Amino acid sequence: MNIEIHRVKRKTLSLQVTAEGGVLIKAPTWLPQHEIDSFLHRKQRWITQRLAAAYKTKQEANTAFFLGCKYQVELRRHLKKGLIREKVILPELNSTKALEKLYQAEAKHYLPVRLKELSEFTGITDITRVVITGAKTRFGSRSSKGTIALSWRLMPFSPEVIDYVIIHELCHVRHMNHSASFWAEVTKYCPEYKLLRKILKE
Ligand SMILES: [Zn+2]
Repeated sequence: MNIEIHRVKRKTLSLQVTAEGGVLIKAPTWLPQHEIDSFLHRKQRWITQRLAAAYKTKQEANTAFFLGCKYQVELRRHLKKGLIREKVILPELNSTKALEKLYQAEAKHYLPVRLKELSEFTGITDITRVVITGAKTRFGSRSSKGTIALSWRLMPFSPEVIDYVIIHELCHVRHMNHSASFWAEVTKYCPEYKLLRKILKE
């Protein structure tokens, strides 16, 4: 999550979720950092809900989403590969394909690392390997042999949504079905899962 803290002359804390998918906090100059941290912690649920509302999977013209943040798209004539800076920069020719390639390349780094982190976080470590797919609706799956497949099409979504998909697949290591005990396990690591799941299905 992209959190920006502005120290200003005011008496109270204010919290704002921006259209770009960031969080902006205005805090009194004198307020200690740990107070801001605990404020953020208390507001976590609200932030997740707001981020979800701000986020639209639908592509608008000249914009692209990456990890839940909205970027302006700039087309350049002599560019071969796409880039993500303050903008998403794409070659003029076949820009849609170039954006897909960009997501694929980012997914190869991001998803296995996050899977490893969440596997340590949950203590569910029984995974043989991870593969990146291009599945359009099945964002994640797990084979009986222990391979977890994650789609690069997750990359536009916010990190919270991606975490939910990974946690979902990790919990399938312990529960091979969608039983009540499976969802109880998911809730343990991802209490906001219902909301995150809804975003994924929109
Ligand atoms: Zn499942």
